[in-house]
Amino acid sequence: MGTAYTIFGAGPAGLYTAWRLVTGGKAVAGDSIELIEWGDYAFDGPGSGTRLPAGRIVTHFCDDDPTQSYIEAGGMRFIEWDGTQGHQLVTLTINLLGLGGSVVPFNTTTDPLLYLRGEHIYQKNLATQNAPYNTPGNNAAPAATLFANISNLITGVPAPSTRTAQCQFYGDGTLPSTFNSFVYAPGSTAGNIGYWNIFYDQAGNEGYEYASDAGGYTSNVINWNAANAAVYNSEFAPGGQFKTVQGGYSQVFVQLFQQTRAAAQAAGVDFSLQANTRLHSVWLADGVINYRLASAADPFKGGPTLTTPNAFLAMPPASLDLVAEATRYADLPDGTLDIMNQRPVQLYMDGVIRQPSMRVMLFFDSPWWETCPYPPDLTSDGLPNTFGPTITDLPLRQVYYFGNNSDGNPNPVYGVLASYDDMQYVQFWQELELHVDERRTIPLEEDYQVLHKPATANETMIKMVLLELAKVHYGDPNDAYKIPYPVSAVYNDFSFNPFGAGYHAWAAHYDICDVMQRIRQPTGLVDGAPAANLFIIGEAYSNDQAWVEGAFCTAESVLVDYYGMTTIADTTNYPLICACA
Ligand SMILES: Cc1cc2nc3c(=O)[nH]c(=O)nc-3n(C[C@H](O)[C@H](O)[C@H](O)COP(=O)(O)OP(=O)(O)OC[C@H]3O[C@@H](n4cnc5c(N)ncnc54)[C@H](O)[C@@H]3O)c2cc1C
Repeated sequence: MGTAYTIFGAGPAGLYTAWRLVTGGKAVAGDSIELIEWGDYAFDGPGSGTRLPAGRIVTHFCDDDPTQSYIEAGGMRFIEWDGTQGHQLVTLTINLLGLGGSVVPFNTTTDPLLYLRGEHIYQKNLATQNAPYNTPGNNAAPAATLFANISNLITGVPAPSTRTAQCQFYGDGTLPSTFNSFVYAPGSTAGNIGYWNIFYDQAGNEGYEYASDAGGYTSNVINWNAANAAVYNSEFAPGGQFKTVQGGYSQVFVQLFQQTRAAAQAAGVDFSLQANTRLHSVWLADGVINYRLASAADPFKGGPTLTTPNAFLAMPPASLDLVAEATRYADLPDGTLDIMNQRPVQLYMDGVIRQPSMRVMLFFDSPWWETCPYPPDLTSDGLPNTFGPTITDLPLRQVYYFGNNSDGNPNPVYGVLASYDDMQYVQFWQELELHVDERRTIPLEEDYQVLHKPATANETMIKMVLLELAKVHYGDPNDAYKIPYPVSAVYNDFSFNPFGAGYHAWAAHYDICDVMQRIRQPTGLVDGAPAANLFIIGEAYSNDQAWVEGAFCTAESVLVDYYGMTTIADTTNYPLICACA
């Protein structure tokens, strides 16, 4: 009898694991790979599921018509590996899948339109038209400069530049001898400091507010691990050179699935996908992995007990929590080990902070933003495919212009990612998910909207978006009527289960390297527990949080470290995950 591999979650980490097991020769004739996925993904094109895959990657075509324009409702871009920097595994995978020829720039402008505290400013004019924040010196430069300055204060100069050096800094990095503060002494462990705390300490509240508002991502300035934030925020700024895949980022995951299926068939590996099915609960009995499944229609009702020798939990912390919760109340027989509810496992699972995120997407019959009084810069330095963004302190937060990206449709629509927001701003939009005449009928905990295709926005939400778009692009909310009413409007709310967040950030007071290494195999965290091939993989506990690269790297690291597979990456200066002293 062959070996069984059971992968729970057909998002990027789960699909990558299946693909590597087959194409890397680990799974051989007679073995089986089973993907268990809560959602219903259209891996075989329209009609084969409710939405394009996978996990938090969602290419959404207007009215689900693949001949029309699309907007990315989730992950949308990557940083091409240049041999030294970028996303090595994503770039490699895209090429190995034969999609290299479809890679196109996802350019962002170097001169974003900023609408902050009621003022319109094009970033290039900041030197003469300071941003309206009482933070002299900082408000005459882009927020990215302030982020970089704070990073330098935390890491010292030169900052750790290789992945190995950065990991070392997360592990035991300290504030440099030059650090000047009433609160934090030089030599303090940077990873035990909250980023908001130290930002306030160094830049004051107005400096912090400026960085928060003008940076676009509120999630970047929460009180996360300052050692990690210092490195991450010094690298991430508008104007970065991103890439994407023509026809939508979901293409990568359609191909991952289809090519895994074909390779499995050729190798005699039994490959299957069980969609609309949730891992309900998991535990160990005599060292053997036991689990129950539940249907998407009745996710709380666990089925019969099953076993597997290899389990990959390829899902984010909120999903893991749901599994732990169901297991806690599963009435397990004596002598079993409820591994997910062990204290050290729970402690390590809390090592990341959940960052809710939301997208509201509108399609119009004309690109009205090109001719409005405050247009975004869409030809930044002559670059094609420039998507914006426009950044504002209004709840819209960031606007990206996808325009007409249909493949020659004679009656195109023009897409705008009208709101890309996170953290507290998600709540602003969440109350607009229901029409003003509606009462809530589904508990928030049980609203699984994001497992399905993006939801249709109601008139109340649409009008609120138009009101804010008018402020940003016309300067006057009374001009909202000048913006054409959208032909289609949808949203995706990643604060909902089972994702519980759009992305994750390392918490302060944790040794990031230690958590990254050890959470992969939870049995290793519990004294006396027999080692079981039960693994946690995915973006959340990675060195590349908020990126598909993190999902791929954690998966690859488990296959290399626990299954003896040879990595496809060049890990000379690119540790897949951090390994600190
Ligand atoms: C708005 C937004 C923008 C982003 N932008 C980018 C970007 O531009 N580039 C980039 O690289 N990344 C981006 N990301 C991050 C990227 O989407 C994630 O890093 C990636 O999807 C993580 O993959 P994963 O496999 O770890 O988890 P997920 O994508 O969350 O996949 C987990 C899978 O597990 C399934 N699941 C959950 N619970 C269960 C269960 N109990 N049983 C079975 N299945 C279950 C889920 O349905 C899902 O399919 C963005 C994310 C968001 C939300």
